[in-house]
Amino acid sequence: MPSAASSSHRPHDDVTSQQLVRAGSWTVAITGTMIAALLLLDEPLPWARVLLNLGVGVMGAVAVLLGHLRRWHQAGLVLVWGVWAVVAALSASNGGLRGPSLLNFPVIIVVAGWVLGARYTLWLTGATGLLFVVFVWADLNNYMPPARYGNLAAYVAYLSGVLAVTAAATLLSRRSYLRRVREAQQTASSLATRDAELRKLLRAVEQSPESIAITDLEGRIEYVNAAFLTRTGFAQDEVIGQSSSYVSNNGMTLVQWVSLRDTLARGENWVGEQVNRRKDGAEIVEAVVVAPIRQPDGHITHYVEIKQDVTERRRAAAEIHRLAHFDALTSLPNRTMLVERLTALRWRGGVGSQPLHVLVLLDLDRFTIFNDARGSEMGDRLLQAVALRLSQMLPAHGLLVRVAGDEFAIVLHDLGLLPPQASRRALAFAEQLQALLLQPMRLEGCAEEAQLGASIGITLYPQNAADSPHEALRRAGTALHRAKQAGGGRSAFFEQGMGEAAEQRFQVERSLRQAIAADELRLFLQSQVDVNGWLTGAEVLVRWQHPRDGLLAPGAFISIAEESDLIVGLGTWVLTHACALLAQPAMHERRLKLSVNLSARQFRQTNFIPQLRDILATSGADPSLLTLEVTEGLVIDDFDEAVAKMRELAALGVEFSLDDFGTGYSSLAYLKRLPIQELKIDRSFVHEAPTNADDGVLVEGILSVARHFGLRVVAEGVETREQADFLRQRAPDIIYQGYLFGRPEPQEDWLARLPASNAA
Ligand code: C2E
Ligand code: CA
Ligand code: CA
Repeated sequence: MPSAASSSHRPHDDVTSQQLVRAGSWTVAITGTMIAALLLLDEPLPWARVLLNLGVGVMGAVAVLLGHLRRWHQAGLVLVWGVWAVVAALSASNGGLRGPSLLNFPVIIVVAGWVLGARYTLWLTGATGLLFVVFVWADLNNYMPPARYGNLAAYVAYLSGVLAVTAAATLLSRRSYLRRVREAQQTASSLATRDAELRKLLRAVEQSPESIAITDLEGRIEYVNAAFLTRTGFAQDEVIGQSSSYVSNNGMTLVQWVSLRDTLARGENWVGEQVNRRKDGAEIVEAVVVAPIRQPDGHITHYVEIKQDVTERRRAAAEIHRLAHFDALTSLPNRTMLVERLTALRWRGGVGSQPLHVLVLLDLDRFTIFNDARGSEMGDRLLQAVALRLSQMLPAHGLLVRVAGDEFAIVLHDLGLLPPQASRRALAFAEQLQALLLQPMRLEGCAEEAQLGASIGITLYPQNAADSPHEALRRAGTALHRAKQAGGGRSAFFEQGMGEAAEQRFQVERSLRQAIAADELRLFLQSQVDVNGWLTGAEVLVRWQHPRDGLLAPGAFISIAEESDLIVGLGTWVLTHACALLAQPAMHERRLKLSVNLSARQFRQTNFIPQLRDILATSGADPSLLTLEVTEGLVIDDFDEAVAKMRELAALGVEFSLDDFGTGYSSLAYLKRLPIQELKIDRSFVHEAPTNADDGVLVEGILSVARHFGLRVVAEGVETREQADFLRQRAPDIIYQGYLFGRPEPQEDWLARLPASNAA
């Protein structure tokens, strides 16, 4: 809607002018034609005037037509100038200044003003003045024709028509004028309201405590409010035109940035939290809303960023979290944190794939007595000192908690998949804790050193899918109580049986560690003979001469040793002694071979090859007389690497035997690629081979595979003649090992029998 104040306003844009043009055009068209028609009645016929009046009518008709085409300006021009020109000609033909037609001019001038605007009044007045000057000049020089009255009736009709139009126009324009005034008043008042509204909004934005920035679509700042400037420490001219992320030293993460971009691209509001920086570098945490600003037609032109300073709130939240999760005296996490951690470690997988964790509950013995005797201040210091000591023991990922008073808890993560293993590790850890706490502590402001033992309760966690932190705490508490009842300074498992088993295995592990150094290991040998009874060598089988329990078979300690690096030390001991034996002339001269069991962990040691090379070199043993017995389990995990390593060892001259063949995967594909020279048929097959058809077939199969690959075969556990015969009939070059030919015996005894057995 064009407003009244608009400078580009043209009369025809408004309805009143258009109505005027239309009314004028019709009046002129009708009256012009009518007068021309009336003039036709005159005698003699005044042709010139008929034509001129007809001209007026035609002009009017043309104006009517243009008005129909809504070409109001052209219609106005034709109406005003066309009629003026024809009337001028009419006046000239009818006495000039003396003629009656002069009356037309004021009418035309006034109408021109209404229809085309004030400028045209001036133009027409000028043109009419000029015309009058010409008329005066023509009159003075007698060029003017005499004025003749035309048809009086026609003239009256014309003038009354003009008068009617004039009156109507005056009326219309007055109404229009009043309406415009009213409109203008309304617009002015609505503008004033809107202005007040805008000012209010502006003040609200300006003075908002939240920092507000408006950016263009590229993120360049166009406006910032006072809060923005105060908070960021920038001056207005330092930020306008800058990128918004630049001035807030934006702490958005990449993820946030992508989400912001995508959200805005969808035309939605983005809400998030950013760690931004002030101009001086100080951090502010801000809750941020970025919203697109839409125009009425819906397209987005700007973004508004509203940021709320939540630094204090975050700091308070962190402090509340700290207070709620940490103990004030020792700064250790508290019970809440313990429960949260245990919750996070809840049951995930099935049996065998669920890593086991351990909850250790520790309570100082006689703390109350200490506290009463030395005062609570000393008591506090002691607790702090204990906390420090315990935290030094804590493994990575472990959690140490002060539960209450003198009670601490420790969570040990991932102690294995199997309960026996996990509980043994837990017990070892508990022993270390107790030893550590027994070391005297020097407390500030206390002359004597303090020394307090501790009781410990242990439970494995989680035990099943339903196990919960509170259940675990209850179990550990029960165990702790039991440990206290037993007199303090002890560790107890909730799972009593497990505790005993773990305790036992733990004891074995501990004494085995000393056994190697204390020279308690013994080398036993079990003969291997060919079908003719000729001795070919022996398998080396370790024994432990336990100071209290007597001679122990490997079953009692090998599997425990294999769970830790103990097996490496043990294996090295066996290899060293076996090689020393091989180097003895009694063995060497008879070219008797020794087979040594090699455990996976030992084989995987990075320095195993150089170590064996060393042992061979130091002992002077002939490598070709040494056979290393490996199991399929040793190669299966990383087949290629194992094969590569075996090849390197084979290059030293040693041979390989695949032990317990038939009990494992026994994949022929593997067998083909393994650099081995010997297969050992497991004793379980040998036992049943003559009596059980299935086992018989299996042994036959193994023998034919061995023949196919050109492998030597040792049959283990041969106890009877039948077994020996069964084997010999199918493989004449088989080697026997079993009670039928000799039990494992101490190497000295075995050596002592040598000449006799070989002579047999
Ligand atoms: P293995 O390698 O299969 O050793 C053969 C086992 O069968 C030996 O048990 C041996 O005494 C037993 N045996 C031999 N002939 C007969 C028989 O006719 N009947 C019966 N029922 N058993 C027979 P041992 O000495 O108790 O060794 C058990 C396992 O301990 C060995 O099984 C081996 O895996 C492991 N082991 C023994 N010494 C060592 C060692 O020095 N290092 C490693 N890593 N493991 C060893
Ligand atoms: Ca063996
Ligand atoms: Ca075996």
